[in-house]
Amino acid sequence: MDSAVSNISNFLKSLPSGLTLVAVTKTVPLDIIRDVYQSGHKTFGENKVQELISKKNCLPEDIEWHMIGHLQSNKVKFIAPFIDMIHSVDSLKILSQINKEAGKNNRIIKCLLQMYIASEESKFGLSLEEAESILSSEEYKSFENISINGLMAMASFTSDLNQIRKEFKMLTHYFNHLKNKYFPHSENFKEKSIGMTNDYKIAIEEGATIIRIGSLIFGDRIKDN
Ligand SMILES: *Cc1c(COP(=O)(O)O)cnc(C)c1O
Repeated sequence: MDSAVSNISNFLKSLPSGLTLVAVTKTVPLDIIRDVYQSGHKTFGENKVQELISKKNCLPEDIEWHMIGHLQSNKVKFIAPFIDMIHSVDSLKILSQINKEAGKNNRIIKCLLQMYIASEESKFGLSLEEAESILSSEEYKSFENISINGLMAMASFTSDLNQIRKEFKMLTHYFNHLKNKYFPHSENFKEKSIGMTNDYKIAIEEGATIIRIGSLIFGDRIKDN
């Protein structure tokens, strides 16, 4: 019953200070999330809008919710009133929609650009070229209700640790390049959201500032999504 609570407290103790842990609650029942919340952890992530909204509506107001999964433009309005950070920005179109809906709510929404680093074709994300074309566009420069706070990426699903490390190093290369070119004086552009249950140790070694962890805390999901 309390295993998620002891898992997360032991896990938090093992992490370097200054690292943000997003506890990924997809498919996790409300009771268990509540227990973890009551133990003091308040930063949670979901990858689907519908599940995010229905959980948010049942749980305490001061939870910091992170959207970590692919986001469609027509769903931005549902999360814009409360979302703390959107990790999965992968087009100018979605960024424009986030800016618009954030404006309606008088908010500035923190966003990460999701970069493509994996060797698998199926993963979402931007190439360096695509990220640069967003950041150098006039439209982007006109946005007043978003803040690009860094990059997110998912490594290949593989047991080849060298491959994973190589991909995270690529993300750091992208990060440094974009920071120097587009955010030289920004204090906000600082986050690298990399690392899941299977690869978080490598991610931390490679400079993660945010890790997104589900199964290590909550156990294996019955049906992965
Ligand atoms: C599910 C998910 C995670 C967490 O995965 P685990 O392997 O359970 O830690 C992290 N990031 C994203 C985008 C996810 O969808």
